[in-house]
Amino acid sequence: MLKVENLYVSVEGRAILKGLTLEMNPGEFHVVMGPNGSGKSTLALTIAGHPRYSVEGGRILFDGEDITGFGPDERAKRGIMLAFQHPHEVEGVRIIEFLQQVLVETKGVDPVEAYDRIVKKAEELWFREEDLHRYVNVGFSGGERKRLELLQALLIEPKLLILDEPDSGVDVDSLSVISRTIEELHQRGTAVLLITHYGRILGHLDREKLRVHVMKDGRIVKTGSGELVERIESEGFGRIFEEVGE
Ligand code: ADP
Ligand code: MG
Ligand code: MG
Repeated sequence: MLKVENLYVSVEGRAILKGLTLEMNPGEFHVVMGPNGSGKSTLALTIAGHPRYSVEGGRILFDGEDITGFGPDERAKRGIMLAFQHPHEVEGVRIIEFLQQVLVETKGVDPVEAYDRIVKKAEELWFREEDLHRYVNVGFSGGERKRLELLQALLIEPKLLILDEPDSGVDVDSLSVISRTIEELHQRGTAVLLITHYGRILGHLDREKLRVHVMKDGRIVKTGSGELVERIESEGFGRIFEEVGE
C-alpha cells in the first residue's frame, strides 16, 4: 500500500533523509523509533506532502500510484492522514465547523448528521459539546491537542494514519485514551505508522505483529518485531547501532 523508495529529502537546502526505504501493507502497524534529529518527523511530513520538504531523490507510492509530486490535499483524498507532533493553533476556526467541513468533504455527510457524529465521537476522546465550539487548539493543553488529532482520525478513518509522537507532552490519562483510540482504528482496518520513543503507547497490541524501524541520520538502519521497542527502552539506541555497524 505504501512504498517509500530510496527517499532523499532536504529542508531549506539541508539533506535530512538519505536513502530511506519503507514498505507497508494494508492494515499493518509499523513503529518508527530513533534519536532526536534522526529525521522521523521529516519522514512523516514528507509522506503527508508538506511543501517545505523537498524530495531530491526516490519516490513515494501509495496504492500503486506515484504520489511524490502530489499536494497534501490530494494525498488526504487518497486516505493518508498525519497527526502532527506539534498541532498548531488556528485562531478564528471553531473545531465543530472545521470537523463538519472535513466530514462533508471526505465522506459526503450532510452537515447536520456530521454534527451529531462529531459530538458522539468527541465523547470517546473526552471532549464535551461546548469544547467543540472553541477555536482549534487555541489555549489547548498538550493532551487536548493530541486528542483532537485522534478525533479527526476517528472521523476520517484514513487508510493510512501517520502519528508523530502522539504520546509526547500528554498526561497518563490522555495517554490511555489515545492509545485505545489508535488500537480501535487499527482494528477497524487503518494501517498505522507510529513515531514514538515509548512502548507504553502500544498498549495491548500484539508485539509479534508489529514492524519496528529504527532510524539513524535519515535512514532506517534496523527493522524488527515489537520486542525491539522494549529493547530500545531498556538499552537505548547505542547497542542497536553497534550491532548493525552504525
Ligand atoms: P526527529 O523528528 O527525528 O527529531 P526531524 O525530522 O524533526 O527529526 O529533524 C531532522 C533534522 O532536520 C534535524 O536536525 C532538524 O533540525 C532538521 N530540520 C527539520 N525540519 C527542519 C526545518 N523546517 N528547517 C530546518 N531544519 C529542519
Ligand atoms: Mg524530535
Ligand atoms: Mg520529530
